[in-house]
Parts: sequence; structure tokens; C-alpha cells
Amino acid sequence: MKKLIDKLEKEKRLSFDEWKSIIVEFRKEKDKALPLFDNDSILSYASEKARKIRLENFGNKIYIRGLIEFTNYCKNDCYYCGLRKSNKDIERYRLDENIILKCCEKGYQLGFKTFVLQGGEDLYFNDDRMESIIKNIKKNFPDCALTLSVGEKSFETYEKWKNAGADRYLLRHETADKKHYSTLHPESMSFDNRMECLKNLKKLGYQTGCGIMVGSPFQTVECIVEDLMFMEKFQPEMVGIGPFLPQHSTPFCDKKGGSLEETLLLLSLVRIMLPKALLPSTTALGTVKEGGRELGILCGANVVMPNLSPLEFRENYLLYDNKICTGDEAAESLKSLEKNMKNIGYEIVKERGDSPFFKK
Ligand code: SAM
Repeated sequence: MKKLIDKLEKEKRLSFDEWKSIIVEFRKEKDKALPLFDNDSILSYASEKARKIRLENFGNKIYIRGLIEFTNYCKNDCYYCGLRKSNKDIERYRLDENIILKCCEKGYQLGFKTFVLQGGEDLYFNDDRMESIIKNIKKNFPDCALTLSVGEKSFETYEKWKNAGADRYLLRHETADKKHYSTLHPESMSFDNRMECLKNLKKLGYQTGCGIMVGSPFQTVECIVEDLMFMEKFQPEMVGIGPFLPQHSTPFCDKKGGSLEETLLLLSLVRIMLPKALLPSTTALGTVKEGGRELGILCGANVVMPNLSPLEFRENYLLYDNKICTGDEAAESLKSLEKNMKNIGYEIVKERGDSPFFKK
């Protein structure tokens, strides 16, 4: 296996069977995967390489993104997500433009240079409303980058928002296997459209992020291999990889959550394959295990996304159960992240942290 990981480092790609054999072998030895250091597991080997590659490309810097979860209304009904429209157990909210700008202001004072507007697919935030929000954020914080993560839109909408000043877009593909996609989403949602959206975002010059949930229901080893091969072909600037976690009011409430170790392995492999990618260590990873986000960093991740949303709404943005940091003020959660990252030898920096392919 180590030879295959060396080959990945050199060639930045592997065949279907090669990828598959890494995952299969890893699963056989999963019990000895942690601790990461001082053992001869596949994860230990891959994470060491990932750390080295990350150090060569980004030093020990960790970029921060201020996450603003600005609406939990959603027109979609993804089987895994707590925001799905059929979930009647949550109180719906949306933040108006003034509150969104106040969240940015608070983040700016703390040193954030990227804001991420994330939400369900809420039709209230139509093209014009979003355009106005984007323009005002860019006008008030001209030295900051703006990332959008609001789902599938038309080429024209993405174009309008790009012209208004949006810099980046996160749209996890969720799975590169069409059949698997149809087990995670209702018939009204289309795999082809999601993939088309990703292509359009890239074409329009967004720094584009795809990604998956590790251990999502019905995900096979082959699905994961297809995901890795898709990423190799698509060459995203960002990749969001976090464990699937069940949410009690969704059809997948009884499904098993994704594994910490496998998420860490995939982060490491993606870092080796895409050395310059921006890879967040996700809140979901920190939810699966205390200190999980630090482990993500030790496996090649280089981004963390503290929450800037107002505290009173956080309990209603529960994509999955037991989400961490729902009660922490942005300032205190940044401070504790800074301390935790310093403890493992990394430094949170207050820069825009653009993709190295997008030097301005
Ligand atoms: N609506 C936008 C979209 O579809 O891209 C952005 C918001 S959506 C809630 C953001 C991401 O949360 C999804 O792409 C999905 O991967 C992740 N997510 C949703 N439910 C989850 C769960 N139960 N466990 C882990 N991640 C989840």
C-alpha cells in the first residue's frame, strides 16, 4: 500500500483498482489506525505524507473562514439533512441583510478575511436580494473574500453573483455515483444538474469546492473511488470532506455515522493528490470526536470555519445531531481554536487564503 501512496504522490492519480485496494486494505487494519503517529498503518503513512505536502505548499498556516448560516429554509428534501423541507421539527429563520452585515463586521474585527454565506436553498433569497447582499459585503469589506454555499442555481444566476463580487462557491457533489446519488435524494433532485452546476461555477472563474460526506448511507468502496477519481479530473480549488452524521428528524435518523478514521484517510489522500487544495477540517469531524478538527489538520487539512452566526439561531441550523460550537461566541471559539492549533504546531493566520491558483 505504501508503494501506491508513493505513486499517488508522484503521479497525482491512481487507477480505479489501485484506489480501491488502498481503501479495502485500510478497512482491514482500521483498528490500528489511531494514534496517527508511531505506527505502521496506512493512515499513519498517508497522513505523514499529507503533512509534508501541506507544509511545502502552505507552511504551518491555517486559514479561517467566518461561516454565516443565514437561512435554514430549504426547498429541497435531501434524505440526510436536518434542513430538508419535510422536517417540521425545526424553527425556520432567515437573517436579513443588516444582520448579515453585522455578522461580517463582528468577524472583520476578529480578523476574518473570508466570509462564507451558507444556507438551504431558500427562494426568498432570489437573484436580486443575493446580489445586493454580495455587493454590500464587498463594498464594506473590500479586502475580504466572499464564498457562497447556497446550492444549485442557473448559469445566469451564478454569473450575476460572480459579477457582483462573489469569489468562491462551495457545492459538495455529495457522490460521484449516479445510483448512489439517487439513494440520498428524492427523484426531484438531479445528479446531472449538480455536476453541471459545478462545471458552470468553474467556467465562471469561481474558486470552486466540491466534496462528500464520508460514510453516507449506501456509500460503497466503489463510490468513494469514483469520488476520488472525479476530484482528480475536476481539480477543485477546495474540497469539503466530513463524516455523515445522522439527524433525528430525517429519514436517515437510524443510519450509522461515518468513521473518523476513514474521513482522516480521505483527507490525507486528497491532500496528496491535490497539494494546493484548500481543505477544511470540518465541524462534523469535531463532532464525531473531541479534537477531531485537530486530527484533520494533522492529516493535511488547512482551513477551519468558525461560526459567525448569531447565537440565538445556531440551534436551528442542525444539519446533524450533537453539532459542536452551537453555544460559543465567535471570539471565544476563535481563541480556543488558536490555542488548540498552536498546541499541535500550527498557526491561524488572518489572511484571505485564496487558492494558490488564484493569485491576485
Ligand atoms: N444548500 C447548500 C447545498 O446544497 O450545497 C448548502 C448547505 S448544505 C446544508 C451543506 C452541506 O452539509 C451539504 O453539502 C452536505 O454535504 C452537508 N450535510 C448535510 N446533512 C449532513 C449530515 N447529516 N451529516 C453531515 N453532513 C451533512
